[in-house]
Amino acid sequence: MSRKTKGNDLTRREFVTTVGLAGLAAAGAGVTGALATPEPPPAPVKAQNQGMPRGKLGKTGVEVSTLCLGGMFDTINNQLLLKQARKWGVTYWDTAQAYGNGLSEEGMGRFFARNPGARKDIFLVTKLKAKEPNLSAQLDKCLQRLQTDYVDLFFMHGLTAIDELTPATKDWAGEMKKAGKIKFFGFSTHTNMEDCLLGAAQRDWIDAVMFTYNFQVMYNPKMKEAVNACEKAGVGLVAMKSQAGRPGKHEIGGEVKLELVERFLKRGFTDKQAKIKLIWENPQIASICVQMPNLTILAANVAAARDQTKLTRGEVEALRRYALETQAGYCAGCGQICQDAVGGAVPVNEVMRCLMYHHYYGEPELARLTFAGLPAEVRQRLTSVDFSRAERACPQGLAITAFMREAAEMLA
Ligand code: SF4
Repeated sequence: MSRKTKGNDLTRREFVTTVGLAGLAAAGAGVTGALATPEPPPAPVKAQNQGMPRGKLGKTGVEVSTLCLGGMFDTINNQLLLKQARKWGVTYWDTAQAYGNGLSEEGMGRFFARNPGARKDIFLVTKLKAKEPNLSAQLDKCLQRLQTDYVDLFFMHGLTAIDELTPATKDWAGEMKKAGKIKFFGFSTHTNMEDCLLGAAQRDWIDAVMFTYNFQVMYNPKMKEAVNACEKAGVGLVAMKSQAGRPGKHEIGGEVKLELVERFLKRGFTDKQAKIKLIWENPQIASICVQMPNLTILAANVAAARDQTKLTRGEVEALRRYALETQAGYCAGCGQICQDAVGGAVPVNEVMRCLMYHHYYGEPELARLTFAGLPAEVRQRLTSVDFSRAERACPQGLAITAFMREAAEMLA
């Protein structure tokens, strides 16, 4: 897969300055909007992709921007950000019915309605849960909120096992394509990602997958096998959760982290930027989906995407060392292991994700909302289930009991 760039209206100097100031503080998914939001430049908006690299999304053949605007934020009140994203060539937008219970889609729809001509510039993705009753009617509602007749790519949201996609799902995807409501079909996953990817590679009707992919999981042999299988099958790949956020509130790997930060700052990168650059260096990944809820973060990530400076071998090694050092605090999404150990009573890594939103990304509201979306009986079980078997089985050695109790107390 090729990386293509055109022009460059954010210079290397601007990149270093922007990144140095903003620190790419929120380059991962589910990030805080705490940074100051500057006024956008008054330049008129034109459809353009200046300097933004493009990646080919597998067999779809579509060249998408390698930076994707994750829509898990208040898009209704951030219309200027949508405008600027388009102007800077971030033309792959990702939303879902679940983001703000349709409000994220509504904000994007408002943008399309107010900016005639914008829709054709945007590669638009939305998602619905596979278990959603009456998917067709739900998709129609998504399209209404988005004020469009079609989405470029439709994802089943948050798959945990490939068999959640049934033969009926395949038929439905075919019907929706025929009806012109979706152009391509796939799924997103942050649980049991490797098995889901391997399953996608065996189903020729899966066009693309968005999955948790970062410096913590990318070296795992099974992940490499799964990514290779998808590439061979032509499944387009989009990374998310690129910062490998952890569920714990305490910083770990302190000294190694300091060394890492110093090393990258000398080169004009932050460690967070280095983590996404590492993913961009893998040509198997077409794009990285990042939450960018304010213009400072958007500008910093756009600059990072446009910068063509490669990480050195030593820098890649430093990230690998850091990954090993901090492995024990990272929930790797291998949910089948811990879920089986508690007889399916609790989707442990879903709860871990809520804690990650709270502690790592500083998004308590998002953490509470995501937690509230878990079935009530699951939330009630967190203090009564015996997680000792799950702790013994967890390859990352996470203190699952303590994390589950903390979630029950803090997020209820
Ligand atoms: S808690 Fe452990 S076993 Fe469960 S998903 Fe996380 S890393 Fe995997």
